[in-house]
Amino acid sequence: MTIKAYPQCEKCYLEENTQWEPESVGDDGSLISKLTAVTVPDQLKTGEINVCASCGEITIVGIYANMEPDEVQYDVDPLNLDDLNTDPYSKGT
Ligand SMILES: [Zn+2]
Repeated sequence: MTIKAYPQCEKCYLEENTQWEPESVGDDGSLISKLTAVTVPDQLKTGEINVCASCGEITIVGIYANMEPDEVQYDVDPLNLDDLNTDPYSKGT
């Protein structure tokens, strides 16, 4: 199985990549949880309009998460790594 970077919306990405302090109960009885960490996306490509591979929503944040094909819920194209490595200043030599 090949892991590839698939587009993901911010919501799905954050759901899977945030760490929260264990919930505790405040003085007024409300649940308190504090964000402790967010994993930085595997790839970021801003200016892209994509469909989230997890929920199918349109996303414009440019987050790509490494996913196995069986984790991909929607038929979307994985990130073409060649696109990322293209250096616009090295063209035309
Ligand atoms: Zn999503």
